[in-house]
Amino acid sequence: MTLEPSGRVADVPPSGIRRFFELAEEMDDVISLGVGEPDFSAPWSAREAAITALERGQTAYTANRGKRELREAIAADVRRWNLEYDPDSEVLVTAGASEAIDLAFRALVDPGDTVAVAQPCYVSYTPGVAFSGGEVLDVPTRVEDEFALTPEALRAAGAESADLLVYCYPNNPTGATMDRSELADVAAFCREHDVDVLSDEIYADLTYEGDHVSIAELDGMRERTVVFNGFSKAYAMTGLRLGYAMAPEEVIAAMNRVHQYTMLSAPTTAQHAGIEAIRNCREDVEAMRSQYDRRRNFVLSRFEEMGIDCFEATGAFYVFPECPGDDAERFAEDLLEAESVAMVPGTAFGAGAEGHLRASYATGLEELREAMDRLERFVSPA
Ligand code: PMP
Repeated sequence: MTLEPSGRVADVPPSGIRRFFELAEEMDDVISLGVGEPDFSAPWSAREAAITALERGQTAYTANRGKRELREAIAADVRRWNLEYDPDSEVLVTAGASEAIDLAFRALVDPGDTVAVAQPCYVSYTPGVAFSGGEVLDVPTRVEDEFALTPEALRAAGAESADLLVYCYPNNPTGATMDRSELADVAAFCREHDVDVLSDEIYADLTYEGDHVSIAELDGMRERTVVFNGFSKAYAMTGLRLGYAMAPEEVIAAMNRVHQYTMLSAPTTAQHAGIEAIRNCREDVEAMRSQYDRRRNFVLSRFEEMGIDCFEATGAFYVFPECPGDDAERFAEDLLEAESVAMVPGTAFGAGAEGHLRASYATGLEELREAMDRLERFVSPA
């Protein structure tokens, strides 16, 4: 066959989330709790900064690493989490956190290296490891631990021999967060077994109880950690494609080596929006966060009323209830067909997620109300 896809690509299955979107798209009147995307628009002044940049004709590439002003704004902003990075050498602006994650795998993983992936997790890590020729080691987390990553889970999976560990907290799909002492236990494991860490903190601003803590802040971890973050979630800027990575100089240089050939620079218009977002949109972030928090409380209380078990998610904009039926995939399909409510079966997010469903509450309260009424009708027909 001509133009035959490489085995590396052909072997990666399509995303389990997409299939549900496609089903839902074919139907009318669907309330989707399936998408991991804010229902808000980006703050107005950030949009205006993008418009102004366009009006001024600022349509050229930027520096490979991103506009200096933006890197400075990022470095200043992350001090909120006790992170200190040099904007010149330790920050790389990317086309979404997605690009940063891909670059880190390509820059750090040699064929045959083992990457421990804490699961359930965002869908891009396992394929990203495969694209870079590494081997994935599944590390399931447990609902009994409120989906926190623990040294026991790492040991049970054999992660002592891993080269890298990747995880995200606040977590997609569970909504779990990790506190300082839980992270300190993971950090101790990583130092003891010489495991480096890729920490996806894209939901750091969407934390509802306690403050976000980055593992990179903990003793001896900065030098072995790459932190990812971005503008998609906190600033509702998914379509602008803007994210960043922070790491020691040599790692950022290696990632930039790939980035400068594959991307050149993150979207210029988005970078203008990003500068404004960090400098002047804190109140907008806080307003969105408090809306999400209201919705989170609403959904959790409705689940409780319905007798659906759900651990108390404390971050991101997802809840991860136990599926009332035996087969979550079947349940999600039947729910969609009978009541036009889309949720994603946990199995789309890897190991440790069996018997769960992911529901996103990045949807207006009215729609959430209707979705919960329909779910109730479905689980306990009159
Ligand atoms: N990491 C996690 C945990 C996510 O949920 C997402 C988006 N769903 C991303 C990364 C990708 O974000 P971006 O839009 O910045 O590429």
